[in-house]
Amino acid sequence: MTVSATASSGVSYGAMAWAERGSCRDMDPDTLFVPGAAQHRAKRVCASCPVRVECLTEALDNRLEFGIWGGMTERERRSLLRRRPDVESWRPLLDATALRSAAAAR
Ligand code: SF4
Repeated sequence: MTVSATASSGVSYGAMAWAERGSCRDMDPDTLFVPGAAQHRAKRVCASCPVRVECLTEALDNRLEFGIWGGMTERERRSLLRRRPDVESWRPLLDATALRSAAAAR
């Protein structure tokens, strides 16, 4: 996708500079806005994305309902938000989780 593109969902990536570094940057944005089980196939592109934390932060902080963001489906994000209604800013929590994962992988 191109970062100035707008998916059919209405989401615009134009204001998100980090999206220029996303693994999905050359994909059609609509690829990430598919229904149901197809989301699990679509999110594979996120596995090695260098801006996964930024992307997921955007979705969680802004309660974005639709599409794949940061390697999570719509349903997965809803579940996470229900479990952690106390979190208003996700970046510190996601950074800490990423650090723990990196340390565990060593
Ligand atoms: S985490 Fe996934 S949806 Fe987000 S920018 Fe990276 S590849 Fe695209």
